[in-house]
Amino acid sequence: MGKPTGFMEYKRALPADRDPLERIKDWEEFHLHFEEEQLRIQGARCMDCGIPYCHTGTMLAGMAAGCPIHNLIPEFNDLVYRGEWREALDRLLKTNNFPEFTGRVCPAPCEGSCTVGLIETPVTIKNIEQSIIDKGFEMGWIQPSPPKTRTGKKVAVVGSGPSGLAAADQLNKAGHTVTVYERADRIGGLLMYGIPNMKLDKQKVVQRRIDLMAAEGVKFVTGVEIGKDIPAGKLQQDNDAVVLCGGATKPRDLPIEGRELKGIHFAMDFLRANTKSLLDSRHADGRYINAAGKDVIVIGGGDTGTDCVGTSLRHQCRSVTQLEIMPRSPEERTAGNPWPQFPRIYKLDYGQEEAKAVYGQDPRAYCIQTKRFVGDGNGHVKELHTVEIEWKKDEQGRFVPVEIPDTEKAWPAQLVLLAMGFLGPEDAVAEQLGLERDPRSNVKAEPGKYATSVPGVFAAGDMRRGQSLVVWAIHEGRGAARAVDEFLMGSTNLPD
Ligand SMILES: Cc1cc2nc3c(=O)[nH]c(=O)nc-3n(C[C@H](O)[C@H](O)[C@H](O)COP(=O)(O)OP(=O)(O)OC[C@H]3O[C@@H](n4cnc5c(N)ncnc54)[C@H](O)[C@@H]3O)c2cc1C
Ligand code: SF4
Repeated sequence: MGKPTGFMEYKRALPADRDPLERIKDWEEFHLHFEEEQLRIQGARCMDCGIPYCHTGTMLAGMAAGCPIHNLIPEFNDLVYRGEWREALDRLLKTNNFPEFTGRVCPAPCEGSCTVGLIETPVTIKNIEQSIIDKGFEMGWIQPSPPKTRTGKKVAVVGSGPSGLAAADQLNKAGHTVTVYERADRIGGLLMYGIPNMKLDKQKVVQRRIDLMAAEGVKFVTGVEIGKDIPAGKLQQDNDAVVLCGGATKPRDLPIEGRELKGIHFAMDFLRANTKSLLDSRHADGRYINAAGKDVIVIGGGDTGTDCVGTSLRHQCRSVTQLEIMPRSPEERTAGNPWPQFPRIYKLDYGQEEAKAVYGQDPRAYCIQTKRFVGDGNGHVKELHTVEIEWKKDEQGRFVPVEIPDTEKAWPAQLVLLAMGFLGPEDAVAEQLGLERDPRSNVKAEPGKYATSVPGVFAAGDMRRGQSLVVWAIHEGRGAARAVDEFLMGSTNLPD
């Protein structure tokens, strides 16, 4: 274990992020790194408790408690404390194909379930994870390692987000010949074109992993949409198995008065174009939705909304407001949200921290419902009208929003970004293959089995479970690879 008395001797500490007022001037990552000695001290805080909930990854109250990919957290904490970085890396890579992604973007349900968190602040697991993998790359310990033999089986993976990449990585390790098809011009799914560069660097981090996988033998095909450029049935015929990892890309709309006005966009259109233009030309091509000089309203309080806030600030918007229909979360866990559940508490994420540094306050307004968009007479949005709501129980005991009279408010807005979540996967591939869907329109495949209603076709990630997290996508990609390997070979040695 770490140091037996470490959790009593040392306080939780994280490296400071870059100054918000400085970092909004560029698109570089905002996290800084700790020195090795400071990391060892943080590793020493791990108690190696009898039942480490940090790596359980069970669902409690509808959210993950502990790490969904079951990272061997107490083990790598101890190894970091002892300075045995190479061993810590080996331990980490047993369960996680891409710790450099999760170490940067995971909401860290592991930390919400850390036993030290019961009496103190939890161990800085996510930062330790990132430091181990970053050191692994820095030291040159991570080199292409192609499989020694090939099975002769061909597998097609549709979609190159974290679930598709994890499935491809595992299947390639098992010796299958894997081709990943991606309709975008770059590989990575939402790792590339959803999460912005300042949170996860595209060239230095995402592309580095893709290059490594390519060097190990995974074939990547970009600019090809399955179901359109290649019929899904043809893909099925040409391969021994198909893994569908197309994500949950249908955005939730807000069909209210004025929705047709110019200047109202889905968040993903804003974020995707921004990153593409940044990578293609450092924004010189102007092919992005520019928030410069505008009053921006972001509707939706999740990760996507936060990314819109951070991106608008980097464009130098005039103001940015984030409207949230739910109430503000409490400062501390409530009685109904005990350890080891994921803590549903107030958090100032990076985008809100930056907005606060610029404008002096958190940009979020809570319990706000948008009623209509108002135009400027030339077809462009000028204002957004809202009303305050309160959540009350209806006759069936369900919480529903109820408008508070006389609370209508007009907000100036020349750019409105809709970040209200996603409804499920697109239809073309599922329809062409005749796949069964679940009641939420996701491709139906049993959790843990990943086989769809059509033999030889598997589904994983957001396309199977609905809008989720990178760590769940990796979990699903690994599990699907195991199921495919078993389907192709009769048995499997791949871990899930
Ligand atoms: C803006 C934003 C920010 C987020 N931030 C975080 C975060 O900070 N932390 C976190 O854990 N999670 C975050 N998430 C959620 C996370 O990114 C997703 O849960 C995860 O990427 C899902 O992975 P996936 O592989 O299932 O699908 P995706 O990453 O969505 O990838 C699917 C890919 O399939 C491709 N595709 C679809 N159909 C076809 C087809 N027919 N042919 C070829 N290609 C196709 C798509 O172009 C896409 O590239 C965020 C999501 C968004 C939208
Ligand atoms: S992947 Fe996420 S939950 Fe798992 S150890 Fe890393 S930060 Fe924690």
